[in-house]
Amino acid sequence: MSSGNTRTWAVSGYLPEDFASKKKSYVIIKGRLIENVGAVRPAGLDVLETESLIFPGLVDMHSHVKYNILPLWGLAKGQFLNRFEWRKKFAPYKSAVSFNMKAFPKETICAAVRWAEVKALTGGVTALQGIGNDGRCAADFGIHNIEIPGEFGNKQRIRSATDIIDPALMGAVYDPRLDPTVQKLSTQPSVSGESPENRVNKIYDQALLELMKQTEILDWMETFYNQPRSVKTGLRLLLGEDLGYNGSDLLAGLEAFKPKIIEFLLDPAKGQLNAKASEQQYQSMKLWLFGATGKVGYMQLPANTKPLSGLDLLGDSKTMDFFGKAGVIAVDKKVRRYLAMFEVAVRRSALGYLQLKDSLAIVAHLSEGMRNDAYNHSEYDYIRKLGLNKKGLVLIHAVGLDQNQLKDVAQRQMSIVWSPFSNLLLYGETLDIQTVKKLGINVALGADWTPTGSKNLLDELKIARRYLDKMKVSQVEISDRDLVTMATVNAGKALNLGDVVGQVKAGFQADLLLIDPAKLNSWKDPYSALVHAGQQDVDLVVVSGQPLYGSVKNIQMASTWWKDVMAPEVLPRDQGRCSYQKAFRNPSMTKLDKDIESTGQRTFRTVAGLEQELSSKLNAYRVAVQNKEPKMISNVIGAVDPLYACEDPAYTERFAQFIEKTLDQDAAERKANRKKYKLDDRWTPLGSSNSSAEEEPDDDL
Ligand SMILES: [Zn+2]
Repeated sequence: MSSGNTRTWAVSGYLPEDFASKKKSYVIIKGRLIENVGAVRPAGLDVLETESLIFPGLVDMHSHVKYNILPLWGLAKGQFLNRFEWRKKFAPYKSAVSFNMKAFPKETICAAVRWAEVKALTGGVTALQGIGNDGRCAADFGIHNIEIPGEFGNKQRIRSATDIIDPALMGAVYDPRLDPTVQKLSTQPSVSGESPENRVNKIYDQALLELMKQTEILDWMETFYNQPRSVKTGLRLLLGEDLGYNGSDLLAGLEAFKPKIIEFLLDPAKGQLNAKASEQQYQSMKLWLFGATGKVGYMQLPANTKPLSGLDLLGDSKTMDFFGKAGVIAVDKKVRRYLAMFEVAVRRSALGYLQLKDSLAIVAHLSEGMRNDAYNHSEYDYIRKLGLNKKGLVLIHAVGLDQNQLKDVAQRQMSIVWSPFSNLLLYGETLDIQTVKKLGINVALGADWTPTGSKNLLDELKIARRYLDKMKVSQVEISDRDLVTMATVNAGKALNLGDVVGQVKAGFQADLLLIDPAKLNSWKDPYSALVHAGQQDVDLVVVSGQPLYGSVKNIQMASTWWKDVMAPEVLPRDQGRCSYQKAFRNPSMTKLDKDIESTGQRTFRTVAGLEQELSSKLNAYRVAVQNKEPKMISNVIGAVDPLYACEDPAYTERFAQFIEKTLDQDAAERKANRKKYKLDDRWTPLGSSNSSAEEEPDDDL
């Protein structure tokens, strides 16, 4: 949220390091920033006096925001090897998770995103990663979304990508035939003044050139460019011997030949799988050859057009375009994919991105899965080979990295986001956090998403501690203070915003979390109090200098200072399970109302209103599924996922038991589980060509 806010006020309480000495601090907040932190009560300002512990707001460094309305996915039992296994090869995932998201209309997505933000807020989270393409739903709403430009006063951007490495593409790109040249060239000294990115680009262009020579594709391309411009030659070259075209006709001949071309394109072994795509491909081929009028296409280029060759061919946009369209049926499948997709879409854009002056960081899933899975290792190898292992790249999960790869992460000053709950539920194991700490790698925390993760980062802290206790990792090795540092300071560092995000200091973003110190009776230090705090212990959450959530008393006070039009909203309503009440302020409601009027959507003036809104949209979706796909109705989410964990017994029960269940699994049990769910003994996504089967979060690269 970034709306205008210029008030100066103060909040008092105890910084963790001062709690033992009972030395109170006053945090003076001006606009969205902390102006000063001192021991003297400032005169002439509104001061919210508290006895609470003052921490920086928690930064959830990994989330799939809109998915956080879904309940836990019961079939995640630690049985998977890597993320593509469940995303691509495990049918129940689709019905439990992606089926529920796919059919949502726009305004339902916005309601889901805002619900997820409110849920994060109740767990002391002031910034979230993972808004994806739904930034419009979150601008000027509750908490920070790190990808929205300027959220922290930053001019540079943070970007997220679900996958920076896609196995379907890498299988094509990383044909082992590329390796000998890459290895040979990598050992040669680099030209002075050459940037590492340019060096990598050159190496790959050379390797590709070699491969194209070996596969005679280069000959084919050069011949094509060097031929006299005759349709006959063009078609013969284009269609090759695959279809037995004898080249006796012109444009009319191509039309007559169309059924055969379509038939070829429809053959799953050779080309596209569906009729529409085949028709499109045929049309673009025709367009490329003959042009829209039949007179301006490739065949009509002047005969003296200078032929391209070698590396020029790779860099020529027309050639790229050609391979992306018309040429795709005639070229070696692997090289075709490289040229048409990876080269243009991934490598250059990713490298280019990391070189952009306006970039702070890129956050992407990598090597998510079991530690000893060969595929997970290979993902980091690709990153290395492609020269993407640079400061600013933040790896989500990275569980499947070996020792050498982790060393490289440390040397290159990259960061890792740890999400133990999600890792354990999906893969039965998580990051080797002791080794990661020993190597000095910067680690932040993420709750991932509610289908396999925590409800918010406050829960993830507890999961992390329970996991460490279970693995007999002592407080000396990884302390509660370390965990809190991961959730605050380290997140700021990972984002290259270490001087404004994640600390309670002058000049930092005024994002605060105040915790009831009553917990200190049972926990020996303030950091342990936070790690073990529940939603009921959250006294105040301040985002961009605005108190948004907390105890009824604190929020009511803030509400009078800001002269809010509406009284703060007190929740939970049903106190059956939650024996506490908290209050919300919604300072952005004027702005929201305006947006909503123009789009004709209902208002989200209050959290209860937001819940009703989401609930009615979900019901409408249920009805639509019932009418259209009655067999799927049992897979549709029926109700809004509860705001507070205490209102969600299924979640709290799983939360309490999962470590015992998944960590005690032995190899035999895991094997049996894989068999039960019909997962092959081994699965490698390399070379898999059907990337359309993918059902996963938006890619925002
Ligand atoms: Zn994720």
